[in-house]
Amino acid sequence: MDYFVDVVLPIPLQRLFTYRINQAEAIFVKTGMRIAVPFGKSKIYTAIAVTTHQNPPQAYEAKDIHQILDEVPMVNETQLKHWQWLSNYYMCTLGEVVRSALPSALLLESETLIEPITGVAYDESQLSDNEFLVLEALRHQSSLKIQDVIDILDRKSVLPIVQALVAKQLIKLKETLYDKYKPKMVKYLKLSETYRSEEALEKLLQNLSRAKKQSEAVLSFFQIQSMQKGPIALKKVLDSSKVSRPTINALVAKGVFELYEEQTDRVIHDTRIKRAGDIQLNGEQTLAFENIQQCFREDKVCLLHGVTSSGKTEVYIKLIAEALKTGGQTLYLLPEIALTSQLIHRLRTYFGNQVAVYHSKYSIHERVEVWQNTLENNERAKVIIGARSALFLPFSNLNLIVVDEEHEGSFKQFDPAPRYHARDAAIVLARLHKAPCLLGSATPSIESYKNARTGKYGLATITRRYNDVLMPEMELVDIKEATRKKKMKGHFSERLLEEMMLQLEEGQQIILFQNRRGFAPIVECTSCGHANQCPNCDVSLTYHQHRHQLRCHYCGYHTAVLKTCGACGNATLDTKGFGTEQLQEELLKLFPNEKVGRMDLDTTRGKYAYEKIITAFEQNEISILVGTQMVTKGLDFRNVGLVGIMNADSLLNFPDYRALERSYQLMVQVSGRAGRTQNRGKVLIQTYNPYHPLLHQVTTYNYHQMFAEQLYEREQFKYPPHIRIIKITLKDRDYNKLNEASDWLASSLRNVLKSPVLGPEFPVISRIRNHYLKHILIKVPRGKHFGKTKNGIKRLEQSFNAISKYKSIRLIYNVDHI
Ligand code: ADP
Ligand code: ZN
Repeated sequence: MDYFVDVVLPIPLQRLFTYRINQAEAIFVKTGMRIAVPFGKSKIYTAIAVTTHQNPPQAYEAKDIHQILDEVPMVNETQLKHWQWLSNYYMCTLGEVVRSALPSALLLESETLIEPITGVAYDESQLSDNEFLVLEALRHQSSLKIQDVIDILDRKSVLPIVQALVAKQLIKLKETLYDKYKPKMVKYLKLSETYRSEEALEKLLQNLSRAKKQSEAVLSFFQIQSMQKGPIALKKVLDSSKVSRPTINALVAKGVFELYEEQTDRVIHDTRIKRAGDIQLNGEQTLAFENIQQCFREDKVCLLHGVTSSGKTEVYIKLIAEALKTGGQTLYLLPEIALTSQLIHRLRTYFGNQVAVYHSKYSIHERVEVWQNTLENNERAKVIIGARSALFLPFSNLNLIVVDEEHEGSFKQFDPAPRYHARDAAIVLARLHKAPCLLGSATPSIESYKNARTGKYGLATITRRYNDVLMPEMELVDIKEATRKKKMKGHFSERLLEEMMLQLEEGQQIILFQNRRGFAPIVECTSCGHANQCPNCDVSLTYHQHRHQLRCHYCGYHTAVLKTCGACGNATLDTKGFGTEQLQEELLKLFPNEKVGRMDLDTTRGKYAYEKIITAFEQNEISILVGTQMVTKGLDFRNVGLVGIMNADSLLNFPDYRALERSYQLMVQVSGRAGRTQNRGKVLIQTYNPYHPLLHQVTTYNYHQMFAEQLYEREQFKYPPHIRIIKITLKDRDYNKLNEASDWLASSLRNVLKSPVLGPEFPVISRIRNHYLKHILIKVPRGKHFGKTKNGIKRLEQSFNAISKYKSIRLIYNVDHI
């Protein structure tokens, strides 16, 4: 008797692949177990078993597997169904889904590089001979491929040995190793109980009248206390009083101050576990909570539309608590960048160690651990907070999904395949688990709000901020006149500067928002207009002040800035436009006494750099924070009095059908960071175009008008959600061939499909890494058979691939392109 197993390989193959197994293996193998298999000439992959059977493949001779890697399935059947759906809907292969779904440590392959972890001592007696040999080899070589391990050990089945070494933390996989974030401890001062009364205090100051330094320190402490809520950092007292550390020590010794330490990533200085039952929802929150539960009973997805700081998170916590009562798991999805320790900490105060975080920045170990815990549905992974990849975890008893900030474009995976939208994939996942799904946002996406309006989704709303804190006051600042009259100081209007000074005097913090995509700072020659271009990509190089370099944001190419223009030779180079870096420079001159922080792609690259900036801002170590889109995301800062939007026009004028929707979302979200406590916050929006209708909608918080107008526009001009878009990108080094091939494909699509086909068209950036790009857009009317259109495209792809000169061209599908 012959036995076979069909497996999914984590590579872009259209079909499953069949391998030969023996009878014992056939009995042992279950769907979802990992199997090491040979593929191609000498490659080894970790594949996922799908079915066993007795029919030899027709087209090829089945090879033997190397070995079965698991005792129990690592992937469950619901996952496989979900992945199948992703592959069908987003037009990619199941293998591509598997590749992005499993943590790389569970997908070892012959090309995987392993490295020793230096500085750890190990006990040789605890190692198998093979493990020892691998470690020995790594003492002489900095890294090994799995293939090398096979040669060294002279056996095919080495993956379990490698895996064991990874588990023992003696070796690591090449691509990533992030340490767990070790929060910095910060020292705080507080006044001893003894001196809390006014009398005692007066006496103290009298006693200190001759110890000048000490009384300065005490006075300084009071000054800070009057200006800021929350604990007072030692550093702050030292800085503002200019006294030395021994002075403080003396005061501590005298029992005037107490010194204590806290982790810096703790916003709430109370780490006791609270019970979700203790949350008292207010009237509107209660109503929203009940509406949501009603939707869930009707098996409907629910959209929670709650203004910024209305307490959506509190409502989620209540819902999670309900879900936990039945022993189920909750998935809490967030856009990558909003995954802050703030929220994690907040959830941990309620759910303690039941909260797990799944995130690409975490180490391989942590990811594998969360995977295992989720698979076993154990106590340590009941509430899983994660970015979009958390959708792929092996949930066995999922009974709630919350998609927070559902409007965020970064929920859509851009590259590589599967190019899925995490919100939409979450809805499908919830359905497979028969679990309820909640979408939340202060500024819902047009598509979700439309679904709520038409009754496809339920809708719950919270219209007021918690505690009736007022929404920030919005003010438009016309900078057209000021620019003409040369009244601007750099990029700051007089009005903005005036307000900033006022806020700083009152001890309030400020956030300044500069659109990332607006003005990339480029160096341009004022004589001939020449700007340096990337030699590999069709873009201007952007200027990076701190390294004095020109860099390409697409391929990383960089070069030093020259003194003279490369084209005309004149020394008339000037930086054009402005980015966050330039703003920071200007601020340092305008406000030399303030600490200015910056949050953008450059400053948040390092490990936990993002957390560090947020912490510094929370701790009041930074008074002005300049940032890009990153500062808009769900952060809960206590002390921000003013938000300045430096240039609204760069948002409004972006050439994209979503530009206005996005502008609204960004401006309202960023302004939501202001005045979250009792003081009413203020927002100043600088613009050349103060009569733009969208700005009016922003300043009056008129979401409904924005929604109605945008929906109307989308209908008029045939854009989602009125239709669906499939974008096909063709990519090749050869410009002429690419043109010819895209014309062929576009006209064939027009012949075959009933839907309108647009293009081919070069995108704004038409060459990246020496590959030319061309787009074709297919606008598929709603209600039409979406599957049929996709099948039509797939059939054409086969004919396309049959044309031999087009072989080198890559076709990339992006379904529901946003
Ligand atoms: P959102 O998520 O809507 O922006 P949050 O959930 O962050 O709003 O709430 C804003 C602030 O109000 C938070 O500091 C939160 O702790 C507080 N808050 C909201 N609802 C309640 C409640 N029911 N009880 C106590 N505090 C609340
Ligand atoms: Zn480049």
